[in-house]
Amino acid sequence: MKKLALHWKILIGMVFGIVFGFLMNSLEGGKDFVTDWIKPFGTIFINLLKLIAVPLILASLIKGISDLKDISKIKKMGMKTIVVYVLTTVVAIVIGLGIVNVVKPGEGMSAGTIEKIKTKYENSAGVADKLSKATVQNDAGPLQALVDIFPSNIFQSFASASMLQIIFFALFVGISLLLISEKKSKPLMDFFDSLNEMVMKMVDLIMLFAPYAVFALLANVMIAFDDTEILLKLLVYSLCVVGGLFLMICFYLLLVSIYTKKSLLWFLKQISPAQLLAFSTSSSAATLPVTMERVEEHLGVDKEVSGFVLPVGATINMDGTSLYQAIAAVFIMQVIWPEGLTFSNQLIIVGTALLASIGSAAVPSAGMVMLVIVLESVGFPEELLPIGLALIFAVDRPLDMCRTMVNVTGDATVSMIIAKSLGKLRDPKPQNWDDHYENVK
Ligand code: ASP
Repeated sequence: MKKLALHWKILIGMVFGIVFGFLMNSLEGGKDFVTDWIKPFGTIFINLLKLIAVPLILASLIKGISDLKDISKIKKMGMKTIVVYVLTTVVAIVIGLGIVNVVKPGEGMSAGTIEKIKTKYENSAGVADKLSKATVQNDAGPLQALVDIFPSNIFQSFASASMLQIIFFALFVGISLLLISEKKSKPLMDFFDSLNEMVMKMVDLIMLFAPYAVFALLANVMIAFDDTEILLKLLVYSLCVVGGLFLMICFYLLLVSIYTKKSLLWFLKQISPAQLLAFSTSSSAATLPVTMERVEEHLGVDKEVSGFVLPVGATINMDGTSLYQAIAAVFIMQVIWPEGLTFSNQLIIVGTALLASIGSAAVPSAGMVMLVIVLESVGFPEELLPIGLALIFAVDRPLDMCRTMVNVTGDATVSMIIAKSLGKLRDPKPQNWDDHYENVK
């Protein structure tokens, strides 16, 4: 029998997870059952992915950079990557602002609905948590983000999985390896090459578990939705975000077809396991090992490009998040602070949503924390902030799932474009977990 493709298996797991979670939501004791007996399997899966993320970035970037054999190429790749990332994010914000200004989802909201949402979420722990996290972010000095890239203790960076610090370290090691004699650099390069191969195999093995893990993750998401009425009330706003995200995917497909001349269906098929995991985990960081594996082995991007572009992208390129932040900020203003909706404020949103998406961590609901900073930048009254967040809180998780999927697709798209422009896109050679199984059976 022909083996079912991985993305189908994951999709089946997701559908079962949604149905199961929905049923458990309505059963007595069902929620506890999911929390105690199902959710831990999703957590194990995410832990495994996080476990291999650091060695994977380190190995593939060091190996990639030292393979480039030319420091000027690294500079070229770095510049191109940042420019394309900024451009795609600006496109995302403009799409978001366009939609929210045309549809105006905040204008039709009845006072009764606003009151209901306010009373339910305004004082909730979730909203308070986002606000306090945003204050921490806000208190940092202007150059703190730059300082944070340079670690003083790399083991600390490994332990906290500080992506930009690890990328800096890997670049530093890779470049230094290039600058010593080949005889001396070879053993280390061979070591990182072999480490990279091994971690890639680990991704294949972990992915065997993916269909069951997404079942657990989605069942757990489903038991969190208890107020379907409020969810429906926020439907127009949610549809604006989802519609914008859909346009972003179309934009990526257009870029892929123009720059790489590859078929769109082929691209979607190869990248879909990473997209589905992004959707299920709401975290680009947790998805990163799978994104790297798909992009290198299934889309044919060379390690030296994917090893740099993808970890940087997971950290700073969040087109889905910036689109969401633009729509959410304007939506909240339409509902509770319409006088703030000036053209100049919308221009400020373009700049701050760009910075806020760069500053958002690649973890669930980080985009909502940084939304506070976008709102503050346009002079949104502080006392209205808890109400503003309360308004969109109920639908944040499903929208987070969708925007994370777009974030990951954006990174994969840009890595293909950069690879193509540097002549580093080749015919893919997918590996299976059992390629060498015969030898060890
Ligand atoms: N969950 C998103 C990510 O990991 C960030 C966000 O928008 O909250 O990419």
